[in-house]
Amino acid sequence: MKMKQAAALLTAICVSLTMCLSDSGMDLRVSASLSSEKNELDSKKDQIEAELDQIEADLQATKDNIAQEEQYQASLTQKIQLNQEKLSVLEQEMSALSDELAEKEQQLTEKEAELSDKEAEIADTYETYKQRMRAMYMAGEVSVLEMLFEADSFADFLTNIEIMKAVSAHDADLVDSLEQQKSDLKNAQAQLEQTKEDLEAQQAAIAVSQQEINETNQQLQADYQESKTATQDLEQERLNFEANKEQRLKEAEEIDNEIQKLLAQIAAENSQNQNQGGSGIITEQGFLWPLPGFSNVNSPYGWRWNNSDFHTGVDLGGSGVYGANIVAAKSGVVVSPMTHWSYGNNVVINHGDGYVTLYAHCSQVLVSPGQTVNQGDVIALVGATGNVTGPHLHFEVYYNGVRQDPAAFISYS
Ligand SMILES: [Zn+2]
Repeated sequence: MKMKQAAALLTAICVSLTMCLSDSGMDLRVSASLSSEKNELDSKKDQIEAELDQIEADLQATKDNIAQEEQYQASLTQKIQLNQEKLSVLEQEMSALSDELAEKEQQLTEKEAELSDKEAEIADTYETYKQRMRAMYMAGEVSVLEMLFEADSFADFLTNIEIMKAVSAHDADLVDSLEQQKSDLKNAQAQLEQTKEDLEAQQAAIAVSQQEINETNQQLQADYQESKTATQDLEQERLNFEANKEQRLKEAEEIDNEIQKLLAQIAAENSQNQNQGGSGIITEQGFLWPLPGFSNVNSPYGWRWNNSDFHTGVDLGGSGVYGANIVAAKSGVVVSPMTHWSYGNNVVINHGDGYVTLYAHCSQVLVSPGQTVNQGDVIALVGATGNVTGPHLHFEVYYNGVRQDPAAFISYS
């Protein structure tokens, strides 16, 4: 069968499914239920696809949120790293200050020792000075006279006195000089103490900076942790959406499979209808009942209405016949014309063995002139076109151009 016909056939089946529900044959009833099942599956599939669209949108939004959080985390990490670099610099400054402080401490200790030495030296010198002074005093009481007698001359005597005075003066100068040195040492010590205090103040300032940076970093770490937790939640959400998506895709696939199965069932039924002519049978003359599922003969061939009208064929039909499949009673080639004032839309088939059949009043013709059809192929749908009072199939049989009574050639059972 040609594609165009196949498509037309599907349309025909759909129409007949809805039109022939009430009293059509068993096969068509089954088709109707298959068809409604298929409609149900189609709408289920539509629903799942709408859900999938929503899930996809949610998924994308979640992914965007995750990307934002990750960007935020990267900026936090950068800030934390910068602060850590600052801390590292401060650590180095701290360490340098500590070294300097240790050095000053060492110098102070040294100064302390020097001072101690100086004080001892001063004490010694002062002792010596005192002894000399005492000796000179005693010489003043006793020996000045002796020095006078022992001196070779007065001049010599004066010289002796001067020497003694000079010695004591030298001692006094020495003590003064040592006192001065001690005072210098004290000053140096005070300066060192001051430097040390400055260094300690610098260290304290650095410690404050360190404390501040550490606090900032703690806040940044907390923010980072919070963002991480948010990301984990989002990640879980994403996984849920993915799982949901997976589930819906699986459902959609299952429904697709069911639809395929149904389509196969419908196709199988259709082909059965075509091949076996629904409930009709093939007679000894080789003709198939042309209206599957409808066994009523509404009007037979011959004179009717008190011989006022000769009926040139048989009228087949029944309740709900409109749109039902009309099948080729025998294989052959479709002949034109397809429309007629009385027959309406019609199909004429030349079977090539002297027989010609005609199918009239169709709602729709599904074949074209010149087309070859097989016995049982759906060629048209029942309608009420032309000169009729209601929907039915008007069927005629010709042999060598002469009308025959179709009842002699076809049988429903
Ligand atoms: Zn008729």
